[in-house]
Amino acid sequence: MATAILFSLCLLAALGLFFYQIWGRFNLLRAAQPAARFDRIPERIRAVLVYAFGQKKFVRPEASIVREQTAGWMHFFIFWGFTVLGLQVVTLFARAYSPGFFLPLLSPHLLGGPVLLLEDLLEAAVLVALGVAFTRWLVTRPSRLFGYAPAEDRLRSHSHWEAYLILSCIGIIMCGGLLYNAGRYVGLPGDAEAAAEITWEPVSRLLAAAIGGASPDTALALSALGWWAHNLAVLVLLNFLPVAKHFHVITSLPNVFFKKLEPTGALSKQDLETATRYGTSRIDHFDWKQVLDMFSCTECGRCSSQCPATASGKPLAPRQLMLDLRDYLYAHQAEVIEKRVHARSSGDGAEPAEVGENIVGPVIRDETLWSCNVCRACEEACPVLIEYVDKIVDMRRHLVQEESRFPGELNRVFKNMETQSNPWGIDAEKRFEWADGLDVPTLETNPAPEYLYYVGCAGAFDDRNKKTTQAFARVLKKAGVNFACLAKQELCNGETARRLGNEYLYQTMAQMCVEGLNAAPTRKVLVNCPHCFNTIKNEFPQFGGQYEVIHAAEFVKQLIAAGKLAIDGSFGKKTAYHDSCYYGRFNDVYDEPREVLARSGAGLVEIERHKHFAMCCGAGGGRMWIEEDPDKRVNLLRTEQALAADPEAIAMSCPFCMTMLSDGIKAKDLEEKVQTLDVMEIVDRVTAASKS
Ligand code: SF4
Ligand code: SF4
Repeated sequence: MATAILFSLCLLAALGLFFYQIWGRFNLLRAAQPAARFDRIPERIRAVLVYAFGQKKFVRPEASIVREQTAGWMHFFIFWGFTVLGLQVVTLFARAYSPGFFLPLLSPHLLGGPVLLLEDLLEAAVLVALGVAFTRWLVTRPSRLFGYAPAEDRLRSHSHWEAYLILSCIGIIMCGGLLYNAGRYVGLPGDAEAAAEITWEPVSRLLAAAIGGASPDTALALSALGWWAHNLAVLVLLNFLPVAKHFHVITSLPNVFFKKLEPTGALSKQDLETATRYGTSRIDHFDWKQVLDMFSCTECGRCSSQCPATASGKPLAPRQLMLDLRDYLYAHQAEVIEKRVHARSSGDGAEPAEVGENIVGPVIRDETLWSCNVCRACEEACPVLIEYVDKIVDMRRHLVQEESRFPGELNRVFKNMETQSNPWGIDAEKRFEWADGLDVPTLETNPAPEYLYYVGCAGAFDDRNKKTTQAFARVLKKAGVNFACLAKQELCNGETARRLGNEYLYQTMAQMCVEGLNAAPTRKVLVNCPHCFNTIKNEFPQFGGQYEVIHAAEFVKQLIAAGKLAIDGSFGKKTAYHDSCYYGRFNDVYDEPREVLARSGAGLVEIERHKHFAMCCGAGGGRMWIEEDPDKRVNLLRTEQALAADPEAIAMSCPFCMTMLSDGIKAKDLEEKVQTLDVMEIVDRVTAASKS
């Protein structure tokens, strides 16, 4: 009886405090801006099954690319250990009131035996996983846990005491459960229930053997100690969740459920006509899903470990950015709730006042935002599906559209896009000069094409990339494809402006580009630039442009399969393929370029970071146009990663990657030794017109 009363007091106090804290956090969600995330429920449930219960990001085979498998499996066991052990927690709590309690049907005499076995084995597995975790925290101390310099210096100086506390609580819960079982068995010799339970509990049985020499009273005292330790550690842990990174235990499932279901490459369309503000600049400008992201960060550092800005020493590390936002949000929790939730419920219809200061600058520095390559490496790595790119671009939108505060060199880029419809500022009349002497069909010479070849600005204006464009056009002609170009009528799609936060310029350009494409007699669009591919495929539907967009590698693969291109497979060079972010992570195009290269006779070697974990070349997010500190150049890092595979050629499928990696090879004075080639240039070399 005394145990029941004492435990009830502990339980009530702990639950009261827990719900008080949760109510505060819940009100933060209520105070946030609206977000439409209740659609397509079956897809959302599937995401929870795959990413939360299946722990896909932790245990997928690709995790081996970045050597994350050990940590991934460790988390897998901790997650499932806790999920199954939830049954044990309920059972042990209930035993304060009924010592022989079992959940319905889970007595060892009914269906409970296998569950007891699973619980027992999982307790042991979680202890092993904890051993690995403690080794990482106390001995190996990787930057992924302690922070990357210099962007995460604040995290590096942090004490991390909550990690030790949480791990200790988990250890106490596991050991307490095992000790409770073992002491009960030894202390109750002849008790049929205790004997039946231990039959299914091999690890507890080992512990029982170890304390088997103790008297029944001592054994029961040990069992009671295990029970109290287990239950109190659960209550401490419960109350610690809402204030620290382990809040993800509660929020990560909903965070996965409410994930973005639109194509990951599509940025949100800003309502420029009715909006009262442009972009995000205050903590209460974020929508509730973005706030849920902040709650859900586990501080695991997988995002920062993949970020090219962090790796090249820039002030951006995605984890630190998330923690800065979260800290600011928590520090202003009362103010946010007071101003927004209470003002809304006052019923006067007035929009509540904004909260706190403008965070863009004082909290999230301009340089931090301009460091982002908008490459999604962070999002790909994040196990709880936190979305970074939209937040960063939303803050850039504020800087550009409300403050006119951006790197000076972008003035020229925006102006060039406005006046010449290309970021280079080359006379728009020269857009089709790449085709001189090639007899490339246009809508004038071929008014009924099956395919429209949209070249894009880089392929049309940049001298190096014009060679790629010419090569692809030759390939199309060799295969007898019925295609045409828009020629001088082609317009820039504005992708660069959107990633740089100039949404107004982007929307103007996108609208005009869509009108041009819609006027063409076909909806099948061929591209050989991943940025154009992503924009036309994923973003133009926002402007009424619906097309079948086919990238060059996929198309060439089809041509070869159909026997329309005779490929002799004579390329013969040891070739490393560099995945562009906008084909790869944004659109899941990994295999087609590799298959085409293999058919061309390339001896493929993989760069260590490839496919899902390939590093950006440094040009993404408009950074192609922003001056870079010579010591912090992403393209040099990526070039070094490619060179580590010891290739004779580096192949790619993106004009921006071509510029960045060619510059990297040049900077290393290796132009004679290592060629940089577009996949289409290689195809052009090894193909002839099919006789069929
Ligand atoms: S999008 Fe790329 S550059 Fe930007 S924070 Fe994420 S990993 Fe870093
Ligand atoms: S954002 Fe995701 S990957 Fe980055 S630290 Fe948080 S949980 Fe880990």
